Amino acid sequence: MKNALRILAPAKINLFLRVIRKRPDGYHDLSSLMCTVGLYDVLTIAPGGSAIQVTCGHPQVPEDERNLAWRAADLFFSRSGVRSGVRISITKHIPVAAGLGGGSSDAAAVLLALNRLRGNPFPVPDLMALGRRLGADIPYLIYRKPALAAGIGDRLKPFDGLPRAPVVLVNPGIEVSTAWVYKNLNLRLTKQPKQLNYSSFGNEKFSFATGLHNDLEAVTLPRFPVIREVKAKLADLGARGTLMSGSGPTVFGIFADMRTAREAKGRLAGQGPWRVFLTHLLA
Ligand code: ATP
Repeated sequence: MKNALRILAPAKINLFLRVIRKRPDGYHDLSSLMCTVGLYDVLTIAPGGSAIQVTCGHPQVPEDERNLAWRAADLFFSRSGVRSGVRISITKHIPVAAGLGGGSSDAAAVLLALNRLRGNPFPVPDLMALGRRLGADIPYLIYRKPALAAGIGDRLKPFDGLPRAPVVLVNPGIEVSTAWVYKNLNLRLTKQPKQLNYSSFGNEKFSFATGLHNDLEAVTLPRFPVIREVKAKLADLGARGTLMSGSGPTVFGIFADMRTAREAKGRLAGQGPWRVFLTHLLA
């Protein structure tokens, strides 16, 4: 392995998320519609030395073996049978612990980059299976195209019913623990039908006005009123639909056109600790 590689790691959002059941291994089976968005961490992967070194410089992100990017490199080296060193530098743009899959995407990017630098010893499905060992969202963040997801989020079917719509992401700057959200989810209260397929969206097109859904909002909205407040503001500012992504707390609004989305971003930015991003679906 020679040259350093610079690679982008996109954030993901769930446009639809139903929790089917808790599994004996602690994961949950889901039915989800996932899409990446144009908000990226930037990673530089430089092979060399004898150890895995991660630099990030973000106060909430560890730089040792707890970093998912570190663990991805370690897993790649042990599975490919050729152990060597690598320096991984991560510039975080994706808010941390925000329901946007930032750590998982960094890990996916490391797997993609090391595989490329090594001459692609793993076909993409094998790389996705490797990623699944580290986290449920990693296979999707290797795959990256809009997809219907089943299993723990790792069984993927391409979905081509999404337009490249503008998206405003609002991170309200509160902390919501993923473990807490799932612990407080009452699976009996979530509604049928739970399974998702093309026909769920009629004519294979997804409607942002009626199709957005996340079972986990039932847990977070009552406990964190700011999430409801962000949704209401996005709707007032012209969003066709709004939803909390994953286990939150980030909320997104989907807009019909970039001008309205840009105006909404301008109005929401600078409201206390809120971090606001204007981007689009990578559809
Ligand atoms: P999930 O829903 O899977 O928890 P998330 O998008 O909400 O994902 P992340 O940004 O991935 O959350 O961060 C979750 C935790 O993972 C944080 O507490 C952070 O310290 C840790 N972490 C480990 N590696 C990374 C990384 N490369 N980037 C961000 N966080 C990381």
